[in-house]
Amino acid sequence: MLGDMIPFRIIGNLYFVGTYGASSHMIDTGKGLILIDAGYEETADVVIESLETLGYDVKDVKYILISHGHDDHSDGVPKLVARSGAKVFMHEADNRYLKGFLPDVYLKDGDTVRLGNTEILCLHTPGHTAGVMSFFFNVTDGESTYRAGMFGGAGVNQLKKAYLDKKGMLPLSWRADYLASLERLRGERVEVFVGNHSWNNRTREKFEQMQADPTVNPFINRDEWGIFLDKCEAKLENMIETESRETFVNYAHRGASEYMPENTFLSFYNGIAMGANGIETDVRRTADGKLILFHDSTLERVTDGQGRVDEHTYAELMSLNVEKNGFYDKIVTLEEFLQRFAFRELTFAIELKGAGVEEETAELLRKYGMEKKTFVTSFNLEYIRKFKEYAPEFRVGYLTKEIDGELLSELRALGVDELCPKASEITPEKVRAWHRAGFNVRAWGVDSEETMRRVYDSGANGMTVNFPDKLTEYIKNAVGGRE
Ligand SMILES: [Zn+2]
Repeated sequence: MLGDMIPFRIIGNLYFVGTYGASSHMIDTGKGLILIDAGYEETADVVIESLETLGYDVKDVKYILISHGHDDHSDGVPKLVARSGAKVFMHEADNRYLKGFLPDVYLKDGDTVRLGNTEILCLHTPGHTAGVMSFFFNVTDGESTYRAGMFGGAGVNQLKKAYLDKKGMLPLSWRADYLASLERLRGERVEVFVGNHSWNNRTREKFEQMQADPTVNPFINRDEWGIFLDKCEAKLENMIETESRETFVNYAHRGASEYMPENTFLSFYNGIAMGANGIETDVRRTADGKLILFHDSTLERVTDGQGRVDEHTYAELMSLNVEKNGFYDKIVTLEEFLQRFAFRELTFAIELKGAGVEEETAELLRKYGMEKKTFVTSFNLEYIRKFKEYAPEFRVGYLTKEIDGELLSELRALGVDELCPKASEITPEKVRAWHRAGFNVRAWGVDSEETMRRVYDSGANGMTVNFPDKLTEYIKNAVGGRE
């Protein structure tokens, strides 16, 4: 894509000097040039040549403002700085992406960058990355002055869970940041919408229109900014909705526990055979410190033993049978479970039962490489907080009956990515609101097929279910049909 756009004057002292895939803009301030975004390393030469084509010299670039740290905006910096000695401005939160340089000036929300005739207002508008900066400035064309604006990071595909996982388990709450940034940007008046990518503001089409009819400047458009921000919001919601459908997790709850002795291999394997693409299980500690998979604090309901689980040694517990519907199996340790299932393409919900299992659970999950396929959950926020301390790279979920705004803020502060409400609480409106607040939504307490269908139809990301076969069947018939 080298040199696939002709450099040109957009309006007044504002010029396009980038490529189709990586926009760069130049402002001639009268006392030196400001460059907004540097493009890829491979396209930095295009920027230099574009400046020359327009009669400028890269040596006159004084400032380079970077909208965010992704490679298509920042990788060209070292080459451009080597030729110009320009100062680089960027938000510190995006340092993690940078190759071969660090900014000279860290931009903060509300900063103004001044050079010559130009003042650029810099707003921190995170979401696409944590450090996205948006830029606003006046351009003067003849007698008229216009307000130009750029949203520094509009893409929503980078907010897909799979992408965030790949880039270092980045928080799903960035989606909420993105929406808050859109709200903020709506408050800015923009008459010349400057594209952070050329497809944002149709840079190329407008250039062609200007050539066909030089009397009209299509870049002057007072509606385009608001329309674009609305589109961004719709795209994010659509992405979240599609993701929840395409990656929906049918968690066999303690295995196929409607039919088989819960939390045993018999139950887990049956769950998988019934089409579950996830397994939910519970971790607690024996009297002699082993981590086993067992739900209740006492033995009576599902085994032929009696008393508290944590008052029995592992050997004692192994002598017991776990029973359901005439099927019998043995209690399983967390490590045995991981040996059998960690390699599988499943999503795991590991619930912490009882205090003091956090650190060892973290170590075991890490040992078996479970980071990208696990949500560690609990009804107890303290366990979650402790687990997250030991294993910040894991995603965690909070199981709860009641959810309000205050809880959501608290969860967000703890780095909780998944909200696990009781199935009876779920409505499509709430799921949408929780998604917009930056959470995955996974239901528990699915007590009937009717509830199961309601949760699936609500747009949630998953549910734990004792009868995964019925959910598998429902999803198969609902494919393409989920409203
Ligand atoms: Zn980007």
